[in-house]
Amino acid sequence: MEGVKLSSVVKGNAYGHGVYEFVPMAEECGIDHFSVFSADEALRVCEIKQAETEVMIMGWIDRDEIEWAIQNHVQFYVFELDRLQAAIETSGNLGIPALIHLEVETGMNRTGFRKKALDKVVKLIRKNEEKIVLKGLCTHYAGAESIANHVRVQRQYKVFNRIYNSLLKKGIKPELCHTASSAASMTYPKTQMDMVRVGILQYGFWPSAETYVHYVSKKQDKTDPLNRVISWKSKVMTIKEVNEGEFVSYGTVYLATEPRMIAVVPAGYSHGYSRSLSNQGRVLINGYRVAVIGMVNMNMLIADITNIPDVKVGDEVVMIGSQGEHTISVSAFTELSEQLNYELLSRLPEYTTRMITN
Ligand SMILES: *Cc1c(COP(=O)(O)O)cnc(C)c1O
Repeated sequence: MEGVKLSSVVKGNAYGHGVYEFVPMAEECGIDHFSVFSADEALRVCEIKQAETEVMIMGWIDRDEIEWAIQNHVQFYVFELDRLQAAIETSGNLGIPALIHLEVETGMNRTGFRKKALDKVVKLIRKNEEKIVLKGLCTHYAGAESIANHVRVQRQYKVFNRIYNSLLKKGIKPELCHTASSAASMTYPKTQMDMVRVGILQYGFWPSAETYVHYVSKKQDKTDPLNRVISWKSKVMTIKEVNEGEFVSYGTVYLATEPRMIAVVPAGYSHGYSRSLSNQGRVLINGYRVAVIGMVNMNMLIADITNIPDVKVGDEVVMIGSQGEHTISVSAFTELSEQLNYELLSRLPEYTTRMITN
């Protein structure tokens, strides 16, 4: 991706990795542009980012947050005339230009100006050149991670280019064109344009199995080049014996058909460990892969350590990550709990302790 700028997408608390942990690490790796969904997310990035690092809001910004954004040189998407007018007015009051990215509708039917609305937009931008800096022209593809959407994505790409050219003819020249997320950048390189907005891939996950297959099918070396940066760990809180014939945890989901040793771990569904992993999940303790038995509780889960030697209170428990020779990947975890990587990661609660490493 020579010559293509990389915007690191850190919405959803950096896909659950923690904005405060992730942003400084990404900056160390040379990232100087971050994308978020909303103004409150942008505020959190602004609290810790380096002065020159740019921030872009791709979605929600309330009318009364526009002043904050302009004052702090935070860039934001414009896909509504109201928002454009508010940006112009606020910029006039502050004497600071608004840094906007014009989002256009190309076929996803989510946010973005339709082509026919653009004449008004063009007029407003041209009339207010000192108040509006057109940092970018952008759109988003409706599912570049699946071949099922191939025709639709191709059509979107064409529509985008048509709009870009018609804007050029009207004397509007955006600084950057950007359309691609992780999947589009990998599967449709022509969509990379001047900048890509990469989320899931930078955390070490493929947008879908299809994207991965597409990538390795063109390579000699079939090993996965991505490194996950997150792990999720806890500790053994208490250990006890369970007699034959007794049930473990709520209800009758798990019956000890022989004497068992169990370890109680202070991680439950309120921390993001899904209830659907009751009697299903696996965790790592002392280098062994052990079963989660009984119901996952709000704050606790129970692991079967019957055949694991020397487990002590305080021993490390890995829910996601590696220990000894074993690894539990997020995808193994999400397949069991029927969630997308995206969903599981972004739902890890903010107060859960995180360790990320690059
Ligand atoms: C989330 C998002 C991205 C990043 O998507 P990934 O699949 O995680 O790379 C890019 N652009 C927009 C508009 C988004 O909302």
